[in-house]
Amino acid sequence: TFTEKYFTMTEAEAVDYTKTRLSIFPADAELTCEEIGDGNLNYVFRIRDQKSGQSIIIKQAGPVARISDEFKVSPDRNRIESDILRLQGKLAEGFVPKVYHYDPIMNCCVMEDLSDFDILRTAFLKKRTFPKFADHISTFLVNTLLATSDLVLNHKEKKELVKSFINPELCEITEDLVYTEPFYPCPRNEVFDGTRAFVEEEIWNDKALALETAKLKFDFMTNAQSLLHGDLHTGSIFVTETETKVIDPEFAFYGPAGYDIGNVIANLLFAYVNGRHTLTNEAEREQFCGYILETIKQTIDLFKEKFISAYKREVTEQVASYEGFLDYYLQRIIEDTAAVCGLELCRRVIGLAKVKDVTEIKEPGSRAEAEIFCLKVGKTLILNRQQYSNGEDFIKTIVES
Ligand code: ADP
Ligand code: MG
Ligand code: MG
Ligand code: MG
Repeated sequence: TFTEKYFTMTEAEAVDYTKTRLSIFPADAELTCEEIGDGNLNYVFRIRDQKSGQSIIIKQAGPVARISDEFKVSPDRNRIESDILRLQGKLAEGFVPKVYHYDPIMNCCVMEDLSDFDILRTAFLKKRTFPKFADHISTFLVNTLLATSDLVLNHKEKKELVKSFINPELCEITEDLVYTEPFYPCPRNEVFDGTRAFVEEEIWNDKALALETAKLKFDFMTNAQSLLHGDLHTGSIFVTETETKVIDPEFAFYGPAGYDIGNVIANLLFAYVNGRHTLTNEAEREQFCGYILETIKQTIDLFKEKFISAYKREVTEQVASYEGFLDYYLQRIIEDTAAVCGLELCRRVIGLAKVKDVTEIKEPGSRAEAEIFCLKVGKTLILNRQQYSNGEDFIKTIVES
């Protein structure tokens, strides 16, 4: 039964679970279920009452990663996901799905069904644009990252939060896949033929780059600055014309604030390279790619603007009011943003986990060109991260690469 021991549910069992363990639907509901998960680690069931049309999502953590059973990941990450979704729902109201229930035995989270939304990566592949996205995501980032930091939180409460979001197995995946494997000839990497020579010469053969990635890895592991989402790519973001909702925070832990922002920017850049290499009509290409560049710029600049005003309103730490501290703190976040954006650009090209924006560029020459562009921008961002302080600085590197 559902109350004794964890097992991964089938669609029929998810219906049964809904009937016996949840009091969400009326007794005479006609429930149907579809497993719609596309991720690596989890099962996502959509349960619908055919009578009322009402629906919910049950996300259950699986015991191993689907991408490779080399990754053993504790289903306890579902607790972390449920807890942070609830917390983010308070800090950034309306920007995450509502959580109805968390079950520590079945390791599942019952939440709002966002099926009327589209996954941002998929929408970008169709070249759709979302004018309010930069405004929305910058609010989400400021609200979740500032309010969970020592700037605002009582330091003892913050340490309790750090403890409850210790996420060693998922952090290890990031430490390996993002910070380590892409930067040496690790057998688990998957390098596209046309890109290999560039990777060997410009990435694996560059000692200065290796050193910077080592410094960044230690920063990721030791700088418990803010409670991060931890996996904030465009596949973790749902959008409509008017709304933005962030899902899938199972990698959440206390790390450098720039990690989440850098992931958003890098994944916008993947949409940009996809547009560059798949849109043959010049006007359409300039329109879409121009939109993405503007969104990158705005995301960074709005983040800064909103961070500064929230800092002035909300900061409780005494020494944070010393002249120059805000500038110092924010500049560090933007440097980390640049560095992590660079790491993500490299690791999605070289490492095990790819993005469709790049792999769906079908012509091999174009794909190699797109990948080499990502690597050049990525490398520049990592090596010169101290030189970035606003959106325009990022745009310059992109258009000059
Ligand atoms: P994973 O951790 O395995 O990547 P995700 O949380 O990203 O799982 O969910 C996988 C997919 O399931 C999403 O891309 C989306 O299509 C669907 N999904 C997840 N959560 C919801 C939700 N609340 N409403 C509607 N669909 C969802
Ligand atoms: Mg996901
Ligand atoms: Mg997924
Ligand atoms: Mg996930």
